[in-house]
Amino acid sequence: MSWTLKRKAQALLAAEEGAVRKDWGGKVSFALVYPNTYAVGMSNLGFQTIYRHLNAIPDVVCERVFLPDPGDVDELRRTGTQPFSLESQRPLTDFHMVGFSVTYEGDYVNVLRLLGLAGIPLRTAARRPHDPLVLMGGVCAFSNPEPLAPFMDFIVVGEGEELVVELLAAYRDAYRDREEFLGALTAVPGVYVPERYEVSYAVDGTIADVKALGGAPAVVAKRRLRAVDAFETIATVKTPRAEYGHMALLEVGKGCGRGCRFCLEGQVYRPVRHRSLDALRATVAALARQGETRVGLVGACVSDYPWIGELLRAVEDAGMELSVSSLRADSLTADLVGALARGGHRTLTVAPEAGTERLRRTIRKAITDAQLLEACDLVRASGIPNLKCYFMLGQPTEEAEDVEAIPRLAERMLARLRVLDPSGRPFGRLTLSISSFVPKPWTPFQWAPFDGAESLAAKLETVKRGVRSFASVRVLHENPREAALQALLARGDRRVADFLELAAGHDGDWRRALREWDGNPAHYTTRARTTDERLPWDHFDVGVRKPGLLREWERALADAPALAEAP
Ligand code: SF4
Repeated sequence: MSWTLKRKAQALLAAEEGAVRKDWGGKVSFALVYPNTYAVGMSNLGFQTIYRHLNAIPDVVCERVFLPDPGDVDELRRTGTQPFSLESQRPLTDFHMVGFSVTYEGDYVNVLRLLGLAGIPLRTAARRPHDPLVLMGGVCAFSNPEPLAPFMDFIVVGEGEELVVELLAAYRDAYRDREEFLGALTAVPGVYVPERYEVSYAVDGTIADVKALGGAPAVVAKRRLRAVDAFETIATVKTPRAEYGHMALLEVGKGCGRGCRFCLEGQVYRPVRHRSLDALRATVAALARQGETRVGLVGACVSDYPWIGELLRAVEDAGMELSVSSLRADSLTADLVGALARGGHRTLTVAPEAGTERLRRTIRKAITDAQLLEACDLVRASGIPNLKCYFMLGQPTEEAEDVEAIPRLAERMLARLRVLDPSGRPFGRLTLSISSFVPKPWTPFQWAPFDGAESLAAKLETVKRGVRSFASVRVLHENPREAALQALLARGDRRVADFLELAAGHDGDWRRALREWDGNPAHYTTRARTTDERLPWDHFDVGVRKPGLLREWERALADAPALAEAP
């Protein structure tokens, strides 16, 4: 055991409030692993919620494990230390179960790095009777877990709040050996046991068939949490070292009814379930009693929460400040923006996603330019100095003029913000945050090809060039090559597991792994898929019907030329 790392873990614990310490005697032990750093993991509400629910079960002990900071990996290796839990500093192999909470494809390789550092065989086929059971949950587990499937004993498909409780009870009551237990799990709705599915491929590299073995269901249906009020989703453990450690995060509900054609969250968390105003008021009052001073509202579309005005008043009446990550420009109100300004917000964020109204209609995020300019009015009038706008490049049907329109729109927004400044002071700053479109499973755009890193880089350059002469505009963007990696992992099948294994073997150096991998990334990313192709995620049912997605995809394509000709 490295004493340096042990002291570091103890310092993290000492800075926390709300961590759970339980005696291990006679309990089922569960390592809840976030495959990224402590600061990132501790800001994830889903991770915190599961931690609380598992520890609420009397005969379960759940402890947290995170990816070591980059400099600490060498220290682990040098001292022969395994990744260990924060609470009792026990190695991963001491636990009965090791559960990964995976919310971002970029963390896939970290899952394998952690297993490797722990000495747990990566592939399920190589695991021994004494190895812990390895599982995953989180949104990646039900969008498309296939690239990680060969490494998981089982996968929790859906919203896991109720399901994990059932799984641990099943383990406590019935576990005798691994094979028998995994066999029994195939009968539990919402549990996917990858080794019980055989995938075959056609000569052109597409998936020919997925055969369920040994009585496993042909299609694994997602579990959905029906009673959202029954599970309060707030951070249990407070720490100043989390990315959002300065505020209490509060989920207002699950799902979004807007149906933007690119958006995974808008599809897979359906139907929309809002937490009741009474339940949220009770939580707000409890947070105030605990001495919290700032509340961050979280949800797919917070400004669509039906009782947002009442909730804002409840937060303000409790003497707390309010924070929201991103808002729909077409549902902004003076009340909401005013409350955010009083809460000390220095930046308001909206997501137009595209430069033209034509493309916004095609992606079904039909915010008009006028609504964006009105949002500028509200922001400026409220005294919030900065505005941030999310745009996405490379969306289906995008033309050069859609890209060129982004700087022009930025110029109009900037002008509007300045006009409203009564003192003539320059407006704070307009930030354009540019990401790359990755066609996600379960969305109408799942059949669209990824644009490609070179094309995206050229479009990004167009935007940057277009705003270069504007003072007070800055452009933030991700690397299009990282978006290409995300596309590979989001759309990959089980063969992509070989690439992940290579990347883990090179300490996460995925560029080197891509060079060495004998697979073809373009098969998964830039290749257009026909609508009759069997997709890697077709043996799941997340509650989104394929005919509906197909209709939306065809509408998007059919609308595009006509809309392009509109004035
Ligand atoms: S992009 Fe926002 S508004 Fe659109 S479906 Fe997704 S969460 Fe809802």
